[in-house]
Amino acid sequence: MAKHAIQLSKKKRTKYRFQKLKMCKKCNRYSVLKDKACPECGSTFMGIEGLAHSIFKKRLFTEAIRILILVCIGIIAAPTVKALYLSLIVGMIFVIVYIILTFAFIKSEYFTELKKLLRVDLRKIGAGIQFDSDLALEDVREEKLAAAYEKLREIGDLIYSDQVKMRRVMVLNDIVLRRDMELELESLIPSSYDKDFVKYALEVLKINRALFTKKCIAYFIHYRDAVIRDFGIESLSAVAGTTLRMKLYILEFSEFIEEFLEYFPKDRFLRLCNILQANPDTDWGSLEERAKRLVEMKYHYDPDFKRFVS
Ligand SMILES: [Zn+2]
Repeated sequence: MAKHAIQLSKKKRTKYRFQKLKMCKKCNRYSVLKDKACPECGSTFMGIEGLAHSIFKKRLFTEAIRILILVCIGIIAAPTVKALYLSLIVGMIFVIVYIILTFAFIKSEYFTELKKLLRVDLRKIGAGIQFDSDLALEDVREEKLAAAYEKLREIGDLIYSDQVKMRRVMVLNDIVLRRDMELELESLIPSSYDKDFVKYALEVLKINRALFTKKCIAYFIHYRDAVIRDFGIESLSAVAGTTLRMKLYILEFSEFIEEFLEYFPKDRFLRLCNILQANPDTDWGSLEERAKRLVEMKYHYDPDFKRFVS
C-alpha cells in the first residue's frame, strides 16, 4: 500500500495527564479527544477540573445549608432568651470557623474531590476512552489517517498501554513521515519486541536522529537478534551510528559501538575519532584502542585521519 501524505495538527499540551479528560454531561460519557462538543449529542464537553469544581461547590453549598438549619433549630428550640442568644453566638462562631477552615484548605479539598471523582468514575472513564478508540479505528477504516492518528495520540497521552502504542505505530507506518511533524519515539516503545515499532523507529532514524534517545537505543540492543533477523545488520549498525551524537551515549554504549566500528561510514567514524581525541582524560575502555587500530588499518593514508595516526 502506498503511504499517505498527511498534515498533522499541533498537539494540545497539558501540565497533568488527567487534564485531558472531559465529560459530556448529557450522555454521561468521558472523552480525551480534542473535540469541543460531544459527537453523539452535540453538547459542549466539560473539562474534568471544571467538573470537580462544580461538585466541590455543590458540596460546600450543601454543608453551609446544613449548618444554617442546625443554627435555626437551635434558635427555634431555645427555651429562654438567654439560650436563644447563646445558640445564635455559637452558630455564628461555627459558621465563621467553617468559612476560615474551608478557605485555608480549599486547594487540598478540591484535589481530594478531584481524586475521588477519578477513582469513582474509573470504569466510566475507561468506557469513554474505549469509545474514543473505536472512533479512531473507524477513521482508520475510512483511511482518514490524520484524524485517526490525532485521536490515538490524545488517547496515548493518557493511557500508556502497548495496545495504544501499537495502533499508533501502525498508522504512522502508513503515512509519509516528515521532520516537521512533531513525531514521538520514546513514548511509543512497547514492552516487548514489535516489528512495526522497529520499522517506524528506523524510518524516524532517517529523518530525525535526535529522537533516538538512550531508552530507544537500549531497546534495539535488547532485541538485537530479532532486529537483525527482520531488518538486517545494516539497521543495527545505523542505530549504533546514532549513539555517536553525544559523548555520554558513546560512554554508555561503548561495547555496542565497538562491534559496529568497521561498518560505520567514514564521516561517522571520523566524528568518533574527533570525540575520542578531544577527551583524552576520559576512560573509553577498549573502544579507544579498537578505533586507533582501525585508523591504522583502514584510514592510514587518508589525509582526514592524519592527525590520529601516531
Ligand atoms: Zn453527549
